[in-house]
Amino acid sequence: EEARSRFLKRNPKSADAHEKATRSMPGGNTRTSLFYAPFPLAIARGDGPYVWDADGHKYLDLLGEFTAGLYGHSHPVIREALNRALDNGLNFGGHGLIEAEFAEVLCRRFKSIDLIRFTNSGTEANLMAISTALAINKRRKVLVFNGGYHGGVFTFHSGHNRINAPFDFILGRYNDVAGTRQLIEDNALALGVVILEPMQGGAGCIPASADFLSMLREVTAQHGITMIFDEVMTSRLGVGGLQGEVGITPDMTTLGKYVGGGMSFGAFGGTEKIMRHLDPRQPDALPHAGTFNNNVLTMSAGLAAMTQIYTPAAVAELNLRGERLRGRLNALFAERNLAISFTGRGSMMNIHPTTASVENVEDTKRGRPEIRDLFFFEMLEKGFYCARRGMINLSLVITDEHADQFVAAIDEFATVHKGLL
Ligand code: PLP
Repeated sequence: EEARSRFLKRNPKSADAHEKATRSMPGGNTRTSLFYAPFPLAIARGDGPYVWDADGHKYLDLLGEFTAGLYGHSHPVIREALNRALDNGLNFGGHGLIEAEFAEVLCRRFKSIDLIRFTNSGTEANLMAISTALAINKRRKVLVFNGGYHGGVFTFHSGHNRINAPFDFILGRYNDVAGTRQLIEDNALALGVVILEPMQGGAGCIPASADFLSMLREVTAQHGITMIFDEVMTSRLGVGGLQGEVGITPDMTTLGKYVGGGMSFGAFGGTEKIMRHLDPRQPDALPHAGTFNNNVLTMSAGLAAMTQIYTPAAVAELNLRGERLRGRLNALFAERNLAISFTGRGSMMNIHPTTASVENVEDTKRGRPEIRDLFFFEMLEKGFYCARRGMINLSLVITDEHADQFVAAIDEFATVHKGLL
């Protein structure tokens, strides 16, 4: 409560900005996931690893735009690519010269992607991947998992949101090997798609177990069900995505966020057998278009980012930094015998008010949720910008020194509140 009332006092300009926004947008908001009470901070600008809010407070950006901000703010290589693109004009109403080069880079990188199509967001990529798969296998149902987040109309947080997904869904329990096998077998004739994040991001950075993934691979193959990995967030965790790290190859993969170099981006791809149904040279091709699918800003920024910045060496280095930070945070709470832990993998992590293992979104309800509130509001006051739900996504411009500063802030948090935690 105290932390929250200090937040109110510290942020009058953000309060005004939110009040003004409510006059023209529902809840003053155009991205539901960004809202939190009493009002969300308005961010005025960013530079490198920092952001500044409307009231002029400076924060180390540990949210990293929910993984899309992998490069930090205004990375010089991306700025240069964008400026070069601007010099040649935008929106040609034709094929450009960059898109095929970018597509080739991504096909080479992700084992499950023989052919790829671009979209404007991760949501749209999932819409296209699911509808393509269902059109091909002529089935109707899609298995999704509780806690899964696949975009604006694909939000499956139990008890949290109403579901407005435009497909017929069955909801499974993430990491439940026997239960899910049974669910798939019971619905095998109607099920056309199983879609999942190989580590749930929005639910709280919850990795899928190896057993769960290999069961899904085996059962979907057996019943002719298209297995889709939503790697919109997790693809940053390996050179060939998280699928490369865990050694499971889905039939289709969706991408988004950082892959577009920080511009609006999405993509879906898969085996040649599936993706050739989109080939417009075929008389019965499935339609897929989109004015901005090949927009030159995204194509240019994405190509530069994936070839010049997020190289295999950079992927390995970032993973290591993430593992190191998560290890230090968990050790800090464990040494003090406090019931707090950070789950995740590589550069993605999430705080949970429990030390019991977190295997699905149901497990995240354990412990006391007010600890997440306290963490969020106190970290803001200390100058660290994390997601409201306690998610942290390291960017490439977060240094060892920044990590030390953050660990020191957490140390203080754990000391001051040891009676509460
Ligand atoms: N899939 C996952 C796993 C995501 O985390 C997100 C966004 O947070 C999406 C899909 C949707 O992507 P976009 O916000 O670009 O529509």
